[in-house]
Amino acid sequence: MEPASCPLLRAPLDIRLNIYDYFLPDHGQFHVCLEQDKVVLAPCVNPDPKDKSPASQLPTDAFRNSEIPTGNERGYDKDMMTICDNDVWARRLRSTWGPHWECEEKSREQDQEGMADANAILHVCRKMHSEFLDLLVSTAVVHMTDLETIDKLNWTGPVSSLCSATSRSLLQNIVRLSITLRLPWNFFPLAKHRKEVIIQDERLAYARRIWFKLNQTLGNMNKLRRLRLWLDHGDAGTWSDVNEKKALNHLTKLACLEELNFLILLPKLHPKYETEACHFIHPGPPVPFNIHRVLRQRIHGDETVPGTFQVVESPDFPFLLDIDEYLDLPLEEVEEEERKRWAEGEDVERYVEEYIDILINGPPGAGNI
Ligand SMILES: [Zn+2]
Repeated sequence: MEPASCPLLRAPLDIRLNIYDYFLPDHGQFHVCLEQDKVVLAPCVNPDPKDKSPASQLPTDAFRNSEIPTGNERGYDKDMMTICDNDVWARRLRSTWGPHWECEEKSREQDQEGMADANAILHVCRKMHSEFLDLLVSTAVVHMTDLETIDKLNWTGPVSSLCSATSRSLLQNIVRLSITLRLPWNFFPLAKHRKEVIIQDERLAYARRIWFKLNQTLGNMNKLRRLRLWLDHGDAGTWSDVNEKKALNHLTKLACLEELNFLILLPKLHPKYETEACHFIHPGPPVPFNIHRVLRQRIHGDETVPGTFQVVESPDFPFLLDIDEYLDLPLEEVEEEERKRWAEGEDVERYVEEYIDILINGPPGAGNI
C-alpha cells in the first residue's frame, strides 16, 4: 500500500503511535526469528519458567514433582488433558528453544494468539512496519532463541528489504532482550578455543563465529538496558563437562557496562565434576558475571536411529530429587544435603540409581526366593 493512500499514515505520528499501542501483545513479551528475508513474530507463552506451574492444569497424579519443570510436563497435552505419544514428547524435549518449547509450538500455528494483529500490521507497508516494530521492540521484552537471528542483527548493507529494516530496528531500539540458546553438545568443546581452527562441520563453524561475535553485536545495541542469557546444551550428559569460563570469557566486557543489567542463567553444576578452573563456583574466586543457576530438564529426547526418537531419563544434580521423601523439601535444602554427602565421599548419583532399581525390581536376590 502506498503511504499516501493510507488514512492512518496521514495522521500525526503521535496519533499513529497511540493506535499502534492497541495492537501490542498483552503479555509484553514476544519471540522474533529472522529467516532469510522473512520476519516471524511469535507470542511468548512462558515468560518466566520459575513462575509457571503447568501441573495446576493437569492431573496431579501424572507428576512426581508438580513445581519444577523436569521434562515430564512436556509429555501432556494440556488442552486435551491426555498423555502425548512418545514422538511428540521426545520432540518437545529436544526443542532448541529450551524452557520456551511451548512458544516454539505456538510459533508454528497459523493464528497465533496475541500476535496475529501485530504480524498483520508489519505487512501493511514499509513505513508502518518500521514505526510499529520500533515501538514494539522498545517497549516489550524481545526473545531470541537462535544464533542465526542474532547474526542478522549485524546487517551492514543497504536497508532495502523488510528483513534488513527489521535488523536495523532491533539493533537500534531493543531495551530488554532475552536470549535462550540450547546448542549442540559438540558446540561447546569448540567454544573452548578462541583461536581460529579448521572445523569440518560448517553449521558448527558458523555457530561458533556468531558466538564469538556476540560481545560486539550486543555491544552495538545502544539502548539495551536489560539482557538475559540462558545457556545449555542439548545432550543428556551433564552440563558440568562444559568449560564455562572459556565459553563465556569474551562476554566479560558486556558485564562491565554500567548501564546494562546482564544476567546469565546456567544449569546447576554437578559437585563431582565442577572445578574452579572451568566453572563459576560459589563460593569461589570473584565472578565477572551475575549468574543464576537453574535446574536442567531431567528427561531427554534421544534419537536412537535417524528419525526414531525415544524418551530417556538422565537427571543431573541434585539427584536426590528422584527420591520421593525429598520432593516436598525446598530445593535449596535438597541441594545442601546432597552437596554435603558428595563432600563426604558418597556417590549420590549411584546411590539414587540403586535406590530406584530396588524400588522397581526389589532387593538383590529377591527374585530367587
Ligand atoms: Zn517464550
